[in-house]
Amino acid sequence: MIILKNAAQIQAMREAGRIVARALEATREAIRPGVSTWELDRIAARVFEQHQARPAFLGYPSGSSNPFPATITASINDEILHGIPSKTRILKEGDIVSIDTGCHYQGFVGDSAYTMGVGRISSEAQRLLEVTERALYVGIEAARPGHETRDIARAVQHFVESHGFNVIRGYAGHGVGREMHEDPEVPVYWPGPLEWVRLRKYYRSAPLRPGMTFAIEPMVSAGHPATAELDDEWTVVMVDQALSAHFEHTLAILEGEPLILTQL
Ligand code: MG
Ligand code: MG
Repeated sequence: MIILKNAAQIQAMREAGRIVARALEATREAIRPGVSTWELDRIAARVFEQHQARPAFLGYPSGSSNPFPATITASINDEILHGIPSKTRILKEGDIVSIDTGCHYQGFVGDSAYTMGVGRISSEAQRLLEVTERALYVGIEAARPGHETRDIARAVQHFVESHGFNVIRGYAGHGVGREMHEDPEVPVYWPGPLEWVRLRKYYRSAPLRPGMTFAIEPMVSAGHPATAELDDEWTVVMVDQALSAHFEHTLAILEGEPLILTQL
């Protein structure tokens, strides 16, 4: 069930989103060779604390036997999602690192992510970051009334593939509101005609309406799109160990252009 938000609720989500943006900005400023992903986690946690916001990832999902143990996810190089911050994961020159975080603030959630190079990175890595970030804005551009979630997926996928990269398929954006994960699912991949019969039960397109709030999050690989989960039951890696990048914003659908909630 898709929960539409009124103007006041969207305003509250904008506040939650702004705090997420501040936390991400603080991590961005700290990224350099020699920094551990644990230190980045502490930096984001402090920003949430200062704003009396509650980390959305820490302890998620509640009731699980293996809840996520940190405030951010930090995923390096061929890790695409859900990397667990650690004092022993030290960033080094040439790495790319994806930082994802979210918080609860006054009853609502914001969720956002970016990928950044550590020091000097290869031109191929730089191109991957640029294409993935631009793909997010291609998706945002398609997020308006009259379109459906599948139009977002197709636009992002087409953009990414036209630059020679691949979108990851098993993970998707999602509605965001009082909970971090609400309906609808917002994929960045849409099966072609030959796959449709086999995959249609996994893909449902939702018409976009003003008041919908959701995250768009292109996850892009420089290699094959297949992923696997590590033994920690969180970290998602590329099977072929290719570099991968991830950009995400939470936004609100309005009558015209959408409102990006997770920016400063
Ligand atoms: Mg996220
Ligand atoms: Mg998300």
